[in-house]
Amino acid sequence: MLTGLSFQAPSVEMRKLNNIWFQLTGFTCNLKCRHCYLSCNPTNKTKNFLNMDKIRKTLDEVDKSGLEEIYLTGGEPLLHRDINNIIRHCIKYTDVTIITNGTLINDKKARFLRQIEIDNDYEIIFRISLDHYEERKNDEIRGKGSYKKILGGIKSLVNNGFNPIITAVNLWEEDEATFKNGYFKLLSEFNFEPSEINLKIIPPVKAGEYKKNYSGYGENDFVTAENIKNCAPENFDCFNTRLIAEDGVYVCPALVNDPRGKIGETLSDSPNKFFLELNTCFSCRGVNKKLFNNDWHLSK
Ligand code: SF4
Ligand code: SF4
Repeated sequence: MLTGLSFQAPSVEMRKLNNIWFQLTGFTCNLKCRHCYLSCNPTNKTKNFLNMDKIRKTLDEVDKSGLEEIYLTGGEPLLHRDINNIIRHCIKYTDVTIITNGTLINDKKARFLRQIEIDNDYEIIFRISLDHYEERKNDEIRGKGSYKKILGGIKSLVNNGFNPIITAVNLWEEDEATFKNGYFKLLSEFNFEPSEINLKIIPPVKAGEYKKNYSGYGENDFVTAENIKNCAPENFDCFNTRLIAEDGVYVCPALVNDPRGKIGETLSDSPNKFFLELNTCFSCRGVNKKLFNNDWHLSK
């Protein structure tokens, strides 16, 4: 793999596949956020939607004994026309987390999905992006009108017994306590008593739209043997995760728009070892915890 690095980057070796991500809708999304590191939008068709067959085949192929979570992502995964069947299929194996912007969720949809959860042994977990607790600041990033729709989605989920996780990028660099309190206050206004596990604050991945509208990585923003010293490999998503897109297997959700992140056509021909040569890996090193996976389990 050619990156121009003059040193051998550290590597992470996947020991067991615990988390499978399915990129259902390529880079197609109904929103067009200013910080989207995948540059998703309504007209981005650079990757096709994933079909049900590929999901079935992948799940047939994996060792289910280690499987802890299946993630459905995009773009916006709820735009997939087979989404209900996909959820019904995946939830037979383990918990399913849906990474969504929440704008397509209403009471009817939430009630329907809750019934799927009740009919199965595993949970459906929603991760919904809301980038600020104030309407103006969220809409500045996610688009006018998005705040109201996202809150509508969260309310529908809460009313139907779900316990969603809210994901935020703190683009205003507010101090963490103020930022968290703003969310907690907002969410508690509609009978949702959030706790720490309901808020996942992540740093930006400086690619795609973020790079265009804010900034990219610096020339020294790489993982090195020296700066990774205090990080354990199990703290990185790539330690126990792979993403399946329509065109193959990617090492992690961050690198699905980077050809260097593609490691195989199927899981069985994909290597376990990955060298952390890309700038994005520097974001994982910075937080020294899983940037993409849930690192907790919510109770029903
Ligand atoms: S950040 Fe999420 S909601 Fe926004 S454009 Fe990207 S995929 Fe869509
Ligand atoms: S971006 Fe993060 S999860 Fe992905 S390969 Fe690099 S270190 Fe691993």
